Amino acid sequence: MDRRNFMQNAVAGALASATLASEAAAATSKMIGIQVGAVSFVDEGVNKVLDVFQQAAYVNTLFVATFTYGRGIAGRQVPGQPLPDHGKQEYDTDTFKGGSYTRVRPQYYRDTVLKEFRAPDFGDYDVLEAVIPEARKRGMKTICWFEDVWAGSVPNIAQAREKRFDGSNATTLCFNNPNYKNWLLGSVEDYVRSYEIDGIMWGSERQGAFANTLGASHGGNGGGVARTTCFCQYCEAKAKARGVDPARARAGFQALGEFVQAGRQGKRPIDGYYVTLWRLMLRHPELLAWEMLWTDSLRETYSAMYNKVKSIKPSVGVGWHIWHNNSFSPIYRAEQDLSELHKYSDFLKMVMYHNCGGERMASYIRSVGSNIYGDVPQQELLDFHYRVLDYKQEKPLADIPKAGLSADYVYREAKRAREALNGTKTQLWPGIDIDIPTGQTQSKSSPESTRDAVAAALRAGADGVLLSRKYSEMKLANLRGAGEAIKAAGLA
Ligand SMILES: [Zn+2]
Repeated sequence: MDRRNFMQNAVAGALASATLASEAAAATSKMIGIQVGAVSFVDEGVNKVLDVFQQAAYVNTLFVATFTYGRGIAGRQVPGQPLPDHGKQEYDTDTFKGGSYTRVRPQYYRDTVLKEFRAPDFGDYDVLEAVIPEARKRGMKTICWFEDVWAGSVPNIAQAREKRFDGSNATTLCFNNPNYKNWLLGSVEDYVRSYEIDGIMWGSERQGAFANTLGASHGGNGGGVARTTCFCQYCEAKAKARGVDPARARAGFQALGEFVQAGRQGKRPIDGYYVTLWRLMLRHPELLAWEMLWTDSLRETYSAMYNKVKSIKPSVGVGWHIWHNNSFSPIYRAEQDLSELHKYSDFLKMVMYHNCGGERMASYIRSVGSNIYGDVPQQELLDFHYRVLDYKQEKPLADIPKAGLSADYVYREAKRAREALNGTKTQLWPGIDIDIPTGQTQSKSSPESTRDAVAAALRAGADGVLLSRKYSEMKLANLRGAGEAIKAAGLA
């Protein structure tokens, strides 16, 4: 080879390797995440689980459930649902307790009465200690994933609870109560100072007093005044500072509660449901003010947690799980204002669960179909929601629980959210449904529908995907379906 040819080849080779390097960078620039609880690592072994994640779905980020008292993100398969084709082939009905799956360091919880919340499920096992070193060896990132789900058995929990307008304790905790606020700040400080983590994600699947009383969510049929919160001393003081009178709010919720209860019993108001609800809102504007008081308190909680993390270690990413109700209720969607949320969000996991979405949408329609829209035939009501939420005509009400929502729903939701976030720092990571439990005769995940949902999210410009809700309920074939779309998008 003469010198000239050698130089040409060298240049061509350098160019080729530069192209390969940039392709590799592009390939790894999207976040491919999966939610996983401690039980999977305990049952199956850390390296075995990580092997499956990498081989089946090219996962590069672990969302490890570090704290919850719920079975949605921790524990094995929910009893009554078929066990997947991996993990221990038995239910943990008797052994699942919940709480913190990491060591609890008391110095971070001095300013709260919530001090005893260690999950007893696996003794001294600390899931982050077990997983992070192995994940790092593989270049995988680890994000602490925890949620706003508590148990009544936690000592002193009554001192952190929300209050209903009749003064009784609700089961939920209040963001304006220093015991809860300081617990949240303490826990993120504990995570950031104690572990080499890459991020923190927290989720709260709740809403304010107005939407709760109406039951404006999937599974909201229970609504009514039992869920009308919060009227604790801290929330009332905050309301007064905003010029909202708690006594007038109570009167409004009393009337709204009676309206909802009558609707659930099929007792139509003389002027109809929609007119009567408007009359209540006009008479008691505090109904909306109290809703927004709750939503603003949630945003302040996000902001405080974000700032706490950044003050300790700015490189740790902070983001939020946005509840599936964002796909059903226009009220809740209005409150998920991305032009606000981006200020304290490095990323947003916005739930876009297509498969269970059909069953959940039908449940939402039934709930608001007995109050806000009690006079509208339910198929018409569903069509109206398809319109105002900007979905294509999905399947009819009678069919969606059995059919689920389409991949086009995922595409539209991802595209809308991505556009709303343009020009901000915030990454969009749609939550993808893999085997989230549905009723026995309802739609089930398949490799094809999972593949199509992931492909739709990526085609819409999402910055990644987050496979949800937990590995311990996912079938391997469906996980591989997600992997197929990831590979097809050039991300493998
Ligand atoms: Zn409160």
